[in-house]
Parts: sequence; structure tokens; C-alpha cells
Amino acid sequence: MRAIREAMAGTESVQERLDDFVQAISKAMRVKVASIYLLRQGEELELSATQGLKKSAVHITRMKPGEGLVGHVALTARPLNLADAPAHPLFSYRPETGEDPYNSFLGVPILRGGRVLGVLVVQSKKARSFNEEEVEDLLTVAMVLAEIIVDDERVGGKKAALKGITLAPVKPETVIGKSFAGGLVEGHAYLHMPPVAPANMLADNIAAEEIRLEEGVSKLRASVDAMVAGDTAKLSRASKDIYETYRMFAYDRKWVGRLREAVHSGLTAEAAVERVRNEHRARLMKSRDPYLRARLHDLEDLANRLLRALSGEALGPGNKNISDDAIIFAREIGPAELLDYDRDKLRGIVLEEGSASSHTAIICRAIGIPLIGRAEGVLDLIETGDLVLVDGKEGIAYIRPLDTQVAGFKMRQNIAGEMSRAYEEMKFTPAKTIDGRHISLQLNAGLLVDLPQLDQAGADGIGLFRTEFQFMVSEFMPRLKEQTELYRKAIEAAGDRPVTFRTLDLGGDKILPYMDPVPEENPAIGWRAIRIALDRPGLMRYQLRALVAAAAGRHLKVMFPMVATVDEFIQARALFDREVERAKKLGLELPQKIEVGVMLETPSLAWQVRSVCDHADFVSVGANDLMQFFFAADRDNARVSDRYDPLHPAAVSILKFIADGCIRNDVPVSVCGAIAGRPLEALTLVAMGYDQLSMPVTGIGPVKAALLKLDAEKLRERLEPHISINSRLSTLRDIVREFCLEEGIPI
Ligand code: PEP
Ligand code: MG
Repeated sequence: MRAIREAMAGTESVQERLDDFVQAISKAMRVKVASIYLLRQGEELELSATQGLKKSAVHITRMKPGEGLVGHVALTARPLNLADAPAHPLFSYRPETGEDPYNSFLGVPILRGGRVLGVLVVQSKKARSFNEEEVEDLLTVAMVLAEIIVDDERVGGKKAALKGITLAPVKPETVIGKSFAGGLVEGHAYLHMPPVAPANMLADNIAAEEIRLEEGVSKLRASVDAMVAGDTAKLSRASKDIYETYRMFAYDRKWVGRLREAVHSGLTAEAAVERVRNEHRARLMKSRDPYLRARLHDLEDLANRLLRALSGEALGPGNKNISDDAIIFAREIGPAELLDYDRDKLRGIVLEEGSASSHTAIICRAIGIPLIGRAEGVLDLIETGDLVLVDGKEGIAYIRPLDTQVAGFKMRQNIAGEMSRAYEEMKFTPAKTIDGRHISLQLNAGLLVDLPQLDQAGADGIGLFRTEFQFMVSEFMPRLKEQTELYRKAIEAAGDRPVTFRTLDLGGDKILPYMDPVPEENPAIGWRAIRIALDRPGLMRYQLRALVAAAAGRHLKVMFPMVATVDEFIQARALFDREVERAKKLGLELPQKIEVGVMLETPSLAWQVRSVCDHADFVSVGANDLMQFFFAADRDNARVSDRYDPLHPAAVSILKFIADGCIRNDVPVSVCGAIAGRPLEALTLVAMGYDQLSMPVTGIGPVKAALLKLDAEKLRERLEPHISINSRLSTLRDIVREFCLEEGIPI
């Protein structure tokens, strides 16, 4: 270790440092040959320094990963320890190196951040296999070597004699994910839980380092326990699962055992974490199994946490010290975690996972922040501070873009700016179709910050006010007065336009920080929303009281979420009536007009639409949940949430069935799920008879622009033959798109 430390400390060129390095290893390990093979341009392994082989072969001998023993080590990212190397089937003889007299072979990968940078090899004449301690030593040494190489890249200039080797990411990258929230933004990357690189690799005092490791592990375990027990409540269901898995890993004996071994071999606790992480990464990154790859992320996050614990940092939900134009990169981020970031500084979000209908995505659309999801492998390509262009509409992130890409992007931003100016100009134009139908375009909102968007977008009201958002972002349960104030502000902001309040939709992934979550196997179809409200009516009565008070002298529209039977609606409505009675008895000013409606988000209620119309003043289709339950596809599960198209003929047919039922019974009907804000879907809904759509603010301009050019009757005629039960199409999307092209409808 001492010799290596000296080799590292050298100020000479990197090539000389590598030469010193192999010399030091061959001496320390008493082997005839020590060689370094480095991966050039990510393609070929090149003999870059050697002690014992012919120097003339340096920078000449090359092989592909997978070729020969060295190539095999690079490909598998695992050590290879052979007593009789020439007898191995993969052995490939390179005469120019003069390696024929050597029998034993030990090759270890040179890893950094899970990337294979090259292979470090020792060879000796005697046919013997190296013992475990020697293998460990060489692995450690290879890690130190990785630092030298990366240093070289970082220093650049004359000293950077090894340019061309795949190191920390520097290349421009284009990552294609899914569009979860549109918008074009430029900013600088911020890793949601960034890795902390170990500053010191080699321990000065092994015993002290062992104690540090134990303390770090205890701190980590305590923090993970706390997350699972208490703070998990703040996070989404997905996060909760993640933390449960974390806990499993944090207590995994093998993992901690590997860390202890690494410290015992002379590494600092931080370097040990990095070492064990590297091993896992290299191994798991090769796996095609998405489950295993996901576990890799858990281990990575855990390693990061441990590194933070070791650095003395308090373990919390990330350091929020972000730049003024931050693009957050994360594996997954829950709605509460998202709201922890300073909105004024947050430009965009890129996730490795995520799903379009998750509440994080809903919040992003609501606050106008572009969100790209399913950007697979993006965390391996990005470092905090990298310049990033986010195209939320197409779901593409340009990382460390070229100047030409930046210029092209700016041009598109300008065009988009012009488009939004065009939308701005249309702000006061009513959304009237060519065939004369007036469509009311309303906003989905939930927080105070959403209210100015009503005027900015020229919305016709708030079609869905998600009251639970106030509860989710508060530290404590909002009191009656706070609730009343928010509702009053929403009503005031809307002026003459209607505001439809949806009572608390809790459960699923909407969990309150101050309420114990009830563990459930299937929270989306568990004890949530109206089910909680009917079983424990206190909270909802309180809320209804606030709504009645807030709308004194004004128009009050209230609806209940997740209703599965008409009977549930009747019970909920009775609770509301009691609150109105109470206000009357107390002589309080009542709303001047009251409408009580229902969210139609379960297929069972669709089948009762006739009877629903007898009891509800209006119906609002919660298409996010309706589609989730219709297709039996979890909206929060990235693997299935986009699997079925809401423009599938079966889905369009249930949407039409609901519209027909309501229209026939003269009950106003609207759609308030995300599909209402997407032009193709919105046009289809209008063609099916819907006159009211409520959507995220970003949808209003594009939907209006499309509607102004729509002959709804003509589209209905085009679609109707395909909605029949025996339609074989898997989606009507192409038909609608083609129709728009023919008709010159901007989409
Ligand atoms: C819906 O389910 O479509 C809806 C609008 O409600 P949320 O997305 O809040 O569940
Ligand atoms: Mg819903």
C-alpha cells in the first residue's frame, strides 16, 4: 500500500505513474509480471503499462472485451484466478508480449462507478493459484488505479496522456424516455441523492476505520428504521416499498461482511463502500432482469446513504441546496419529496422510473414542470452540474449537449414561446367547434399556487380542485379555518367561473405525514377516499363545513371521489346535507347555489349511470382511475401504467356509454383525468359528447387550438363504426390522428 501511495503521489506524467505502479505491484506481490490494460474509446483493451512483459508491446497489444483472459475479466467484471492459464479455453497467445513462460494468472477489473475502465493483471511462472488475500489486495489496488486514471482525465492538458479511455461521463448523451409532463427547459443537473465520492482511499489507522464503519452502519440502520417506521408516511407507496427493501439490505449480513473485509484490508470506510458498490454494480448491470437491476438501485442508494452517514451528514430527504435552474435526476420521486424542492429553482425532472399517471406526474403538470420518466440508465450518464436540455413533450433529455443542439433547442423554445403566445392570444376566444359546440375548458388545481393559472390560461373555471393536496403538503392537519381560507381563495380567484371541489381523496399513494398509514396489500383498491370518509365521517364533515362556509353567498360545487355504488353517493350526500342544515340552524350565510356531484372513476358506477343521474347534480369522469380499474392496470406501476391506450375502442366505448347516459338524463357530465388535456383524446371525448373538460394548465392552449378546427360530428361519424363491440383495433389513435391531418387540426 505504501508503494502504491507513493506511485499515486507522483507528479510525473500519467504514463510514468502507471509504470511506477506496475513496478510497485510486481515487487509487493512478488510476481514477475504486472500489467495494466485500459479500455480505449470503450471498445478495445490496450496494454498500457507492464512490468515483466515486453515493453515494446505497450500500446500495441489490443483485444476486444470478451477476447482472451483479459477480455473475459473486462466482460464479466469479475476476478479470474488461474494456476494454469495457457490451459484455459479462452487463453489467446500474444507472441509480441513474450508471455509464454507464465503459467499463473490473476486478472481483476479496474472499476469506477460500475464502469469497467480496464483490467489489472499479475502473472508468475510457477503454476499456482493466488490466495484469497492476494485477490482482495489486487482488487483494492485496482480501485486506487481507477482514481489515478480518472485524475488524469480530470486534470486534462499535457498530463492527460491517456485520453480516450472511458471514464466519468463527459460525452454528450441523448436519453429517450417517456413524456409525463411537457415543456422545453434548459438547466443544470442535480442528482436527487447524489453519490459522495470517497476523498481518502487508504486508511491510516485500520482499527479506527473499523470503528467508523460500525458507527456509520448503525447510523444508517437507525435512519432506515426511522424511514420505515415514521417518515415513510410522507412518501409514496412506491417509496415505502423501496425503504422496506432498503431495510432488508441495511441489515444484510453479507453486505456488511463485505464492507468489513474491505476495511480490514486497508481501505477507508468510504472506499470500502465504493468497492462493494462497484462489485454489485458491475455484476448487476449486466443482468437483463429488471427486478435485479432495480435491486441494484436500492443498493446504490443505500451505499450513498452510508457514505453520507460517514461524512457526518444528517440523513434526510436530500440536500436541497440546488442551483437556480435545477433539473432533478432521480430514480423515482414521490409527490411529497418533489414538493420539498424550491419551486422557483426547479426547472425539470428526469426519472429512471415513474409513471404518467402518478401523482408526481400530476403535480408536475399542474405546476408546469416538464417531467421525463423511464429514462433508463440515465443516472449512470449524469453528474450534478451537467448542462441538460429537457424536452418534456417528446420525453428526451439532452445531456451535456453540443452547441448545435443547444442552438436548435433554443429555436424550438422560441417557437414554443410563439405557440404559447398564440395560445395567449386565444385566451379570450371561446372554445367553439366548427359545428358550433361550446366546450368548457377548465383547470385541475389543488394548491394556492395553481390559482393564478386560471387567468393565465384563460380557463373557464376549476373542474377539479384536489383538496387533499393541501393536506399532503402541510406538516399538520389543516384546521377548519385554514381549509375555509383556501377554498374561499379558490372561489374568489375564479370569480364568476365555477370551482368544483373534490372531497379528500386519501389513500393509495396519497398519504398524510401526520396520519399512520394503514398497511394494505392493494392500496389503490383499498380503504381510500369515500370509503374512509363514510367509515370515519368526522374528517369529511369538517371539510364539508369548511366548504359551506367558504362558499357563503356564492356558488358551491362539491363532488366525492372513488364512489363505487350509488348508495355510497347517497350516504355522502346526506353528510353534506347535514352540514348545510347545521349552517342554517346556526344562522350562517349559506351558498347561494349548491350542486353536489359524483366522480365516476369505477367501472361499477358506470354501470349504474342511469341511477347515478337520479341522485347526482353532475358527473365528472375521473379517467385516471377509471382507466386504471377498467384495464386492471396500476396507474403507479411503471410496467403497466401505459400498457393500454385510453383510445382503445373498449375504453372509448365506456366513455361514450357514460356520456350518453348522462346526456339522456340531462345531467351535466365532464372528464377531469389527464386525458382531457391531450389533444387527440380531448377531441375524441368531445366527439363522444362531452362538453366539459378539466385538465392541467398545460393542456388548455393545445386543446383549444385543436377544438377551434374540429367538426365534432364528422369525427364522431368517423369513429363510431370502430367503437362497436367487435372492433379488432387496439387503438383509435391513428384514426383520430389521420383525421386531424386531413382537417388541418393542429395536434
Ligand atoms: C382521476 O382519477 O382521473 C382523477 C381526476 O383523480 P386523481 O387523479 O386525483 O385520482
Ligand atoms: Mg381519481
